[in-house]
Amino acid sequence: MQIKNNIEKIQAHIQKTAIDCGRSPEEVHLIGVSKRKPEELIRAAIDAGHRDFGENYIQEAMEKIDSLGKESARWHFIGHLQSNKARFAVKYFDLIHTVDKLKLAREISKQAAKIGKTQDILLQINIAEEETKSGAGAGEVIDLARQISELEHVSLRGLMCMPPFFADPEDARGYFRAVKTISLEIRDMDLPGVEMEHLSMGMSNDFAVAIEEGATLVRVGTAIFGSRD
Ligand SMILES: *Cc1c(COP(=O)(O)O)cnc(C)c1O
Repeated sequence: MQIKNNIEKIQAHIQKTAIDCGRSPEEVHLIGVSKRKPEELIRAAIDAGHRDFGENYIQEAMEKIDSLGKESARWHFIGHLQSNKARFAVKYFDLIHTVDKLKLAREISKQAAKIGKTQDILLQINIAEEETKSGAGAGEVIDLARQISELEHVSLRGLMCMPPFFADPEDARGYFRAVKTISLEIRDMDLPGVEMEHLSMGMSNDFAVAIEEGATLVRVGTAIFGSRD
């Protein structure tokens, strides 16, 4: 019941935020981030009608998805992905948010080809250039998008970012805006097979600001599933 209530509350907040800033609420999708949470909680969310879930760790995700059924939801990979795990990410996930290197994109394309899939991906930008975070530098993203557009079994659908945590989410606004600007630049390049339809940005504490700056996918963990210990 708690999870259903949390989701309804957040969906209402998303709707209001979108409408207040002149966007259509249907443009914004809520991803429930279920990392380190047991599958029973995901099941509760599915039973409440929720369909999009984000996971960070391949091994943990594979076990949960096998148990819940891949077709029961749309699965988003939002953790750091190593090339040697690309095969599993391609097999299990509908959208991989965290591609930040050509080498990784090539491996994803190769693995997707093997199973006759075109893998939807987002490019992760390390927008605040933080040493502790993965993601391509803002200056590299344009070239990376061009190179990725040449890969046959990968489809670039947008950008993802995770700015630093700020107690006041207003402080993240400039980073969200910068990512939006880059996505428009890439869109203007008209690259074959590239659809810059998604901006994956905003978490429990800052999703409203992210929506005001153009987010289409907000990744919310704590506010749905409770804090992670
Ligand atoms: C854990 C995580 C989230 C969710 O964070 P909350 O603050 O719990 O909402 C979102 N995005 C990524 C990439 C994460 O790793």
